[in-house]
Amino acid sequence: MTGVFCTKEVTAGTDGSARGVLGMLEGAMGGSPVFCMDQIHSDIIVCAEDLAQGEIPRADAIISGNPDHLLCVRTADCVPVLAWSVDGPLMAAVHAGWRGLASRIVEKTILAMRSRGCGEIRAAIGPAIGPCCYEVKPDVANALGVEPELSGGGSLYVNLWEAARSQLEAAGLDGGAIGVRALCTSCDPGRFNSFRRQGANAGRNISVIGGKAWLLPGLQAG
Ligand SMILES: [Zn+2]
Repeated sequence: MTGVFCTKEVTAGTDGSARGVLGMLEGAMGGSPVFCMDQIHSDIIVCAEDLAQGEIPRADAIISGNPDHLLCVRTADCVPVLAWSVDGPLMAAVHAGWRGLASRIVEKTILAMRSRGCGEIRAAIGPAIGPCCYEVKPDVANALGVEPELSGGGSLYVNLWEAARSQLEAAGLDGGAIGVRALCTSCDPGRFNSFRRQGANAGRNISVIGGKAWLLPGLQAG
């Protein structure tokens, strides 16, 4: 898999809101169009080409065929999924919490890319709350359609990375086309923000694809 995948603190000083992160990224991107979403745990997918610059759509996945566009998802335990076409500039960024996964947003986003003529697709699944920490009620495990792990104390734990991966596979990606960065946001306070650990005031982890992403602070080579 080609590309740069790394983890850096770039949201210090922002409030983690879509508007705040958008402003930070626009400042760092030297004028490239940046797209952040007002994420609502839905299966709504939008195309960046249909949006005005600076518009913040209520959606949880965004697709663009313009390589100058920078697509961003904000997470704090939910799963960020980035996908791109091998044979063209089409790309997508997905915010997938348990509700989004239950509504199959990851699979639907890949199918939406295919409906735009996209052939071979690769995807990266990023840091999220891991099965080590993601204790859920039975209804969440049922909605996800995954087999939960049962702890000795009778608690249920589910693996959101595997739920996302299974949807990518259902949409036709094979295992070699999928990269999983299985880092738990809840376990790692030094690197990640976590809703489960920090509550409603948690900051946000951001995942970006496209544009001049390499201009972000800390990503420059040398
Ligand atoms: Zn953990």
